[in-house]
Amino acid sequence: MDEDRVSTLTKHQIEKLLLKKADHFERLTKDLSEKNAELRETQKQLIAEKEIAESATKAKAMFLANMSHEIRTPMNAVIGMTEILKETNPSKEQLTFIETIHKSGYDLVHIINDILDYSKVESGKMELEVQPINLHELVSETANLLVLKAEEKNIELIYYIDEEIPPVLHADPTRLKQILVNLVNNAIKFTSVGEVVIEITLEKKLASEAIINFKVIDTGIGIPENKINHIFDSFSQVDASTTRNYGGTGLGLTITKSLVELMSGEVSVTSTTGEGSTFKFVVGLPYTASISKSPRHASLFKNKTLLFADQNASHRKYLRKKLQSLGFNVNAFQTIEELIANIKAVPAVDLILVEDFLLGNMTDSVKEGFEQLLKTGQIPLIKMLPFGKVPDLKKVNSLSIKRPLKRENLISVLTTALEGNSKKSPKSSAKKTHEPKDISVLLAEDNKTNQLVAKGLLKSIGYQIEIVDNGVDVISKLDEKYYDLILMDVQMPVLDGLEATQKIRDLEFKPGQPIIIAMTANAMEEDRDRCIEAGMNDYLSKPVKRDEIIEKIEKWFPDN
Ligand code: ADP
Repeated sequence: MDEDRVSTLTKHQIEKLLLKKADHFERLTKDLSEKNAELRETQKQLIAEKEIAESATKAKAMFLANMSHEIRTPMNAVIGMTEILKETNPSKEQLTFIETIHKSGYDLVHIINDILDYSKVESGKMELEVQPINLHELVSETANLLVLKAEEKNIELIYYIDEEIPPVLHADPTRLKQILVNLVNNAIKFTSVGEVVIEITLEKKLASEAIINFKVIDTGIGIPENKINHIFDSFSQVDASTTRNYGGTGLGLTITKSLVELMSGEVSVTSTTGEGSTFKFVVGLPYTASISKSPRHASLFKNKTLLFADQNASHRKYLRKKLQSLGFNVNAFQTIEELIANIKAVPAVDLILVEDFLLGNMTDSVKEGFEQLLKTGQIPLIKMLPFGKVPDLKKVNSLSIKRPLKRENLISVLTTALEGNSKKSPKSSAKKTHEPKDISVLLAEDNKTNQLVAKGLLKSIGYQIEIVDNGVDVISKLDEKYYDLILMDVQMPVLDGLEATQKIRDLEFKPGQPIIIAMTANAMEEDRDRCIEAGMNDYLSKPVKRDEIIEKIEKWFPDN
């Protein structure tokens, strides 16, 4: 009986327990479904917020692209008009004013480009356009862009590229140049005494790519230890005070870092305050194996003895390296006196190179001794001139080369000197000249000021153009007369440049389709693609420069 009781009690208890549990589960389920509803609500909110954030990013990118377009349009007028004004025989004072406007215009365009690049980096839209490049050309162009700035501050700009670096590399030339320009610009900006060196060496040559080490070394103010880890952050500057000495947006290094990383490389910096900084980036670039035929100059230079005098220690170091890698036996001296004093110890001298400054500062007795030495030994002399100095044309016999020394020019002047042919001295970098082609040009552009700019620029290179201000008028003009070249703005009322081009491409013309080149302030990569997709042949981004127009005309009308 006792047993029975236990079991009834237990049953009762079990039922109670079950009921309790059921109740508990019911509450749990209710709680859970409430929580579920809450979660769903939160998820909904998050999705909505994500959409808002995405559309804000899109709006920001759109805003930047539009702002860039709007600012570029008047800047096109400012820069273009100053280029035209320069050709109108202004007085010296007026020319200074014009050049100031011109330079400020470029500075502003530079800032706009930085902001645009930064927005591309932020939205992950930055892409590389890889093509075969010649590193010597690219670095020489970069150095030429910046050397005047360095000379203005009395700073030496030197570049050195290892001879072992393959001649044809594959990289995005615009972006590689942009990285170098950013670093060298900073180096010049933050240096008041001394020099800036671009040193490019081959770290390793693998089967498919060359690992290349780029260094930009300056002797400037340096970067304090507590700031060095932050300088690659956006908008970060060592001196961010309102009283700072140096302008800038603080975006250059952020963009530089992103570009290097896009090339799968790494950028770093070492610095000592008061002594200078070294920015370094290492990238692996695919290369085209060259057919190993030794160049013509190799046998001419081999084992020839060359002496040179240069007061700058870095010049001596890099020039010696370069000349040795070209095959010369080299002796370098700090002064001409030193060179003369040591010449007896050198068996046979084939060539002497001297910095122009030293030649201009010899005492009479040194001068006499030096001239005697050249004459008796019949040793050719090459002068090294600073960039800004135009060679004295009256002294046609003296060979000269401009700094920063470009490899091709150096080889050419050395060859000329050794072959005793002084007529073929290297070309100086003159303003682009152009033989006008026999072509008819139509401009489609709605902005009156830009019409004037384009008309003036084209007139200055030898073309009379006709102008219309929308796409419909382009087509009706083509109905009356054939044009070889159409310079087409993209954003125009009535019918825009893209649609107009598509319509033109559907028409037939006896002499063939005209060449259509977009001339637009939309500077993004996609804009360019859209122009090409619409059927245009090429693309010029505003502000349009005289040399760029010439380049495009020569590209598309080589035989006229
Ligand atoms: P910006 O030069 O426009 O200010 P950057 O991003 O190029 O912007 O550089 C960020 C900061 O890093 C500079 O403001 C400067 O403080 C520091 N910096 C960059 N390069 C150098 C250099 N070569 N020497 C000293 N400081 C430098």
